[in-house]
Amino acid sequence: MSPSEVIIGLEVHIQLKLNSKLFCSCSTVGEEEPNTRVCPICLGHPGTKPLLNKKAVDAAVRLGLALGSTINKKINFSRKQYFYPDLAKNYQITQYEIPVAISGSIVLSSGKIIDVARIHIEEDPAALTHTDSTSLIDYNRSGIPLIELVTKPVMNSPDEAREFLNTLLTIIGYLDIFDQNTGIMKADANISIAEKGFTRVEIKNILGFKEIERALSYELARQKAHPVVRETRSWDAVAGQTYSMRAKEQEEDYGYIFEPDIPPINISAEYLEELKKTVPELPSTKSERWVKEHKIDAADSKIIASELQLALLFEQLIQHHNPVLIAKWLRRELLRVLNLSGKTVADIKPDRLHELFALLESKTVTDKIGQKLIEELAKSDFSPRQRVEEQKLGVISDGEFIAKLCKDAIAQNPKAVSDYKAGEEKALHFLFGKVMASAKGKAKPDVIKQILKELL
Ligand SMILES: [Zn+2]
Repeated sequence: MSPSEVIIGLEVHIQLKLNSKLFCSCSTVGEEEPNTRVCPICLGHPGTKPLLNKKAVDAAVRLGLALGSTINKKINFSRKQYFYPDLAKNYQITQYEIPVAISGSIVLSSGKIIDVARIHIEEDPAALTHTDSTSLIDYNRSGIPLIELVTKPVMNSPDEAREFLNTLLTIIGYLDIFDQNTGIMKADANISIAEKGFTRVEIKNILGFKEIERALSYELARQKAHPVVRETRSWDAVAGQTYSMRAKEQEEDYGYIFEPDIPPINISAEYLEELKKTVPELPSTKSERWVKEHKIDAADSKIIASELQLALLFEQLIQHHNPVLIAKWLRRELLRVLNLSGKTVADIKPDRLHELFALLESKTVTDKIGQKLIEELAKSDFSPRQRVEEQKLGVISDGEFIAKLCKDAIAQNPKAVSDYKAGEEKALHFLFGKVMASAKGKAKPDVIKQILKELL
């Protein structure tokens, strides 16, 4: 099956990183006891009026600007009407006719452009929990501000959908409108294949970009193997499969009307100009610029640019150090030790890294000692320069001492010596390892190798 025989579109819901709800002043964070962060507005009491949180508009407009969208000059809110227990008002306030932004795009690493159809703001309904005999409703989530981003159906594989979401995640991280630790990013996907006449199936409730590829791959295989009807299915991440929810509803079923309690909002040119200044250089632009300006490895560059904190750290460090060295160490060593220790970039003081890289650059310490120091920095804060002095971790420049260690290693490992002489290169690595261990990682690798070869 060629890729163009699969068509995928996404609707992504992003929980905005805001302190208060979309239409009332209830908090979006804290107290996890159900139904404690509520008021008559988010409980949908009759007679209450919504008051729009302006910061949600800012966030949606900034995302639109970052993706090159057209921002509508006057935006409206609408009521999407349906009856369900998670919706006390019997309608959800969303945007339908005139969203914040239309069009825009995200470029994948292959260069393929994924077109965005629209970006709008809406409120989250309450959370329902079903048990065997009852259903519980938590209104803490009712009114949580969301952005919905809809793509055109232009993706042709589950892999492209995953990369799209991953890139979007990086961008909303740069804009600081999404909290990766507490925020929820959910996608609904529509997928259809040529051999079933592009009969559209919608999949709901795919949580996060890691699940998207799994859900779509499952659905693709299912559609190839079974008859396909137009319907809405739900993704069950635990079972790893989709199951049928209902026959596809048409948009008209919701009976949208303009929300009479929120007047249309004018988006002025001045306001747009102000917000434009707050949109940072995006990861893809950053990473391409670094490769061009600093000749760093493209893969390193992309990974460093994918996280804002890491990108800022990189830009700070290269003001004093060789960018190629910094890129290599941030990607290969810093990320490795952070992963191991469960820490983040913010847990290590930039000054400490600055000291460490100065030691490496001046070849005061070997890479091996550098690795040890960065591992320890991920555990506790200390001055690398002081530690190197106190524990005498500097490079051993005494050639005679290294020669002695080499002679010892040769005397103690006759088998490795004879193997090497019989042409086994591996035996040299073994001896090298022995010498490096007795030098406690403080000897220069090329010096050891040279002396060993001479002695052998
Ligand atoms: Zn409230």
